[in-house]
Amino acid sequence: MSATPIRRQYLGIKRQYPDVLVFFRLGDFYETFDEDARVVSRELSITLTSREMGRGKRFPMAGLPHHALDGYLAKLVNRGFKVAICEQVGDASLAPGLVEREVVRVVTPGTVVEPEILDYKKNNYLVSVVQDGSEAGIAYADISTGEFRTTQLPETAVAPELDRIAPSELLLPEGLSPGSIWPTSPVTRAGYLADDADEAERVLLGHFGVTSLESFGCENLPLAIRAAGALVGYLQETQKAAAVALSGPSIYSLDKKVVLDAQTRRNLELFSSAWRNRIEGSLLWVLDKTCTPMGARLLKEWIGQPLFDLTELERRLDSVQAFHSDGITRSRTRKLLSKVGDLERTSVRVQRGVANPKELVTLKHGLERTPEIRTAIEDADLTHLTWILDRMPDCSDIVDLISRTLMDDPSTAVGGGGVVREGFDAELDKMRSASSEARGFIANLEREERNKTGIKSLRVGYNKVFGYYIEVSRSHLSQVPGAYIRKQTLVNGERFVTPELKEFESLILGAQEKVEELEQAIYRRLCAQVAESVATIQELAGCLALLDISNNFAEVASLYGYIRPDLSKDESLYITAGRHPVVERVVGEGLFVPNDAHLTGAERQIMVLTGPNMSGKSTYMRQVALITLMAQIGSFVPAEKAHIGLVDRIFTRVGLQDDLSTGRSTFMIEMLETARILHMATPRSLIILDEIGRGTSTYDGLSIAQAVIEYIHNDPRVAAKTIFATHYHELVKLADTLPRIINSNVTVAEENGKVVFLHKVEPGGADKSYGIQVAQLAGIPGPVIDRATQVLNHLENGAGPKEGIAPGSGESGPWQLSFFSLPADSSPVLSELMELDIASMTPRDAILKLYQLQEEARKGHPSK
Ligand code: ATP
Repeated sequence: MSATPIRRQYLGIKRQYPDVLVFFRLGDFYETFDEDARVVSRELSITLTSREMGRGKRFPMAGLPHHALDGYLAKLVNRGFKVAICEQVGDASLAPGLVEREVVRVVTPGTVVEPEILDYKKNNYLVSVVQDGSEAGIAYADISTGEFRTTQLPETAVAPELDRIAPSELLLPEGLSPGSIWPTSPVTRAGYLADDADEAERVLLGHFGVTSLESFGCENLPLAIRAAGALVGYLQETQKAAAVALSGPSIYSLDKKVVLDAQTRRNLELFSSAWRNRIEGSLLWVLDKTCTPMGARLLKEWIGQPLFDLTELERRLDSVQAFHSDGITRSRTRKLLSKVGDLERTSVRVQRGVANPKELVTLKHGLERTPEIRTAIEDADLTHLTWILDRMPDCSDIVDLISRTLMDDPSTAVGGGGVVREGFDAELDKMRSASSEARGFIANLEREERNKTGIKSLRVGYNKVFGYYIEVSRSHLSQVPGAYIRKQTLVNGERFVTPELKEFESLILGAQEKVEELEQAIYRRLCAQVAESVATIQELAGCLALLDISNNFAEVASLYGYIRPDLSKDESLYITAGRHPVVERVVGEGLFVPNDAHLTGAERQIMVLTGPNMSGKSTYMRQVALITLMAQIGSFVPAEKAHIGLVDRIFTRVGLQDDLSTGRSTFMIEMLETARILHMATPRSLIILDEIGRGTSTYDGLSIAQAVIEYIHNDPRVAAKTIFATHYHELVKLADTLPRIINSNVTVAEENGKVVFLHKVEPGGADKSYGIQVAQLAGIPGPVIDRATQVLNHLENGAGPKEGIAPGSGESGPWQLSFFSLPADSSPVLSELMELDIASMTPRDAILKLYQLQEEARKGHPSK
C-alpha cells in the first residue's frame, strides 16, 4: 500500500461524494484535496498547497480554519456548490491510531441553515417535482423554518408554481429535464423515491412517526407523495444526524389562488425592478414595512400568491383596518414586534442543536414580547384581530425555563462557566467558586512568595506543559527556598513548583473540567426541552407574522394614503383616482396624476388605450393590474375608491425583450406569450397587453393586434377584462363595430410646438403620436427632427404609396394618419426611423443609429 492511512480514509469518503466538495477535518482545519482543492482555491482565493501522503507522493491541498467555515460555505453555496462536512467523530486523544471521520452533513443551496448565508427576508426552498403524463407533484420545504408543503397539479401549472416558489435547489427525477421546467436553479437528481409511491410513503411515515398519511390528507395524491418522499429522502441523506425539523407535509391547492405566470410577476415588477433587477423600484420595496423576519417572508409569499377567495380576503382586510383605525396601537405593536427577532429560524436552530446560548436568550427576549403584544391589542379592543390572538399559544413556560437556566448575557461558548445562571445548579456553583478561589489563591501566591523570599523578580506563570510554575531569574537563584522543586532551566533563570502550587493547580483544573461537563449537560438538557416546544414556537411565530403583515399594510396605507378596496364576486372593476404604487413614490409626493379605470365584463370589457410614447400608458395599465393584485393579497390600495370584482388570473404582456438564453426572437416570444394568454384567460381574468404586434412589420402587427382584440371580445370562453395599449391608431375604429370596446387615451398638451405630458387618461382615441416631439425631448439633433417633421407632413398630406417621399420635398395635401398610407417602397431611412424603439435604446446606440441614418439619407441626397 502506498497511500497513508489518512489518504485512504479520505479517498473512501470522497468515493461516496463524487459530485460534492469534501471538507475533511484535520485538527483545526478543514482540508480539501485533489480537484476539490483546486476548485476551493480558485473560488475562495485560498492558497493551493500540497501534502505528502505516502511514498513521497504529493497531492494538491487547500485548507481553511474551522472557525471560518460559515463565511466560506456561504460563498460556495451561493455559487451553487455542494459541500460535505466531514468531521472527526472519534476522540483523537483516546483513539490509538487514525481518528474516525464521517460526513455529518452535506450543505447544498436548498439545505442551508446558517444565518450568515440566509437572507432573513426570504425563504430558502428546496423543491422536488415529479411528473406523470399530464399530472405533476410538487413538494417544497424550507428547513431553516420547518415549512413543508406539497401539492398535486396539472403539468402545465408547474412552471408558474415554480416561479412563485423560486427554488434555491430543485430535485428532479432522472429523465425530467430542468430546461423545460425551471432553468434557473441548481438541479439535483432525486433518488428512486421520486418514482416509487409506496417507498416514498414508507419514508414519509417513518420520518413523521405516523402510521397513515391520512392525517395529512395526501393519501390519495400519489404524485404529491412521491415528490414529498423524494424531498424527505434527500434531506435524510444530506442532513444525516442533524434533526430535520419539518412540519408534517401540509397539502395545498391552487384553487382560490390567482394564477400569475413568470412573465406577469416580472412585468409587474413585484419583487425587483426590471431596470436594474434590484428590490428598489418593486412593489415589495414599497409595501415592506414589516417588523419581523417572519412577517417579511410572509409578505413576499402573499405578494407572489394573490387569492381568489372573498372570505379570506375580507378577513385580511378587516385585520388591516383594525390597525389602520388605531395609529397608537399600531405603533405600539410595531415597536414590540421589532424586538421579536427570528423566532422561526432560531427555534429550528435550537432543535438542530446548533444554537448558541446567546441565541437562546434572544429567543427568550422575543417570546417575552408576546404577552405585551397581546395586551396592547386587547386594551385597544381591536376585535378584528381576535382571531389571530386566539390562535397565539402561550410560551411563558419556555421563557421561564430559559430565564431560570441561562445568565442574562451568556457567552456564546458553552463550557467556560459563563453560560448558566448562578443558583440554577448547586454543584456547578460549587465548582465555579472552587475554581475561582483557587485562581485567587494563585494570584495572591506571587505576592506572598515575593515577601517570603525577598525576590522582587519572582513570577508565577502558566504553560500547557508544566502547568503553574514559579520563575526566578538567575541572579536570585541563591535565595530560592529549599521547598521549591526545580522543573525547568531557562537561559536567564529557573522554573520551580511547590506541592501547594500543584495542589491548587489540580483543584483549578479539576473544577474547570467539572464546570465544563456540568455546563454542557445543563445546556444540552435546556436545548432538548426547548426543542420539544418548537412546534408551539412556530405556531406563535406564524401568528406574529400575521399580526406583522396586517400592521404592515395598515402602516403603508396610512403613510401613503391607501384605502380599503371594496371586493366582490362580480366582474367589474371601478377605480377612482388610482395611482401606481411605485411610480408614485418615485416621481415624488403629490406629483403623480391619478386616473380612473372602469371595466366591466358586460359593457366595458376592452379598453383600447392610445397616447404618445412616454405619456404614461404602461404606468396606467400596470397600475390597474397592481391595484387589483394588492386588493387580492389583502392590502389597501392607492386610490380614492376601488371596487374590485375578484379576478382569477392576471396576464401581462408588456415591452419587448429578447430572450437570449433561449435564442428566441422578440417577436416569437411575444407571440408565444400572447398565445398562452388567449388559451388560458377566462371571463374572470384581467389582461394587460402592451403594443402587441410591434415586433413585426406594420401590416402584420396591426392585423395581429386587431385579430387578438376581436378574439378576446367575441369568444365567450376568453371574454376577459382587457387593457390594450397601442400605437396603431386604426384600432380606435374597432369601438364603432364591437360594442364592448371603449377607447381611452393618455392626454398631452402642445405648448409652442413642444409636447407637455399631462398623464391624464381620458375617453376617446388619441389623434396624434407626438413621436417626433418625444424624439426631440430625448435629444435627437435638430436637423434630424426638422427632416422628420418635413417627412411626416408629407405623409400626413396624403402622399400615396406610389408617390414615394422625395427627399427634402414638403408637399402638402389632406391630413391623414394611417400606417396604411405608409408607402411600402418609401425611403428606407424613414421607415427605419419610424420603426425605431427609441425609448428602449441606450444613448450610445441612439447616436450610432443617427449617424447611420444620416449617412444613408445623404446617399439619396448628393448635395448634402
Ligand atoms: P412608451 O409608449 O414609450 O412605453 P408610455 O406611454 O408607456 O411610454 P410610461 O412608461 O408609462 O409611458 O410613462 C413614462 C413616464 O411618465 C413614467 O416613468 C413616469 O415618470 C411618468 N408618468 C407616467 N404616468 C404618470 C402619472 N400618472 N403621473 C405622473 N407621472 C407619470
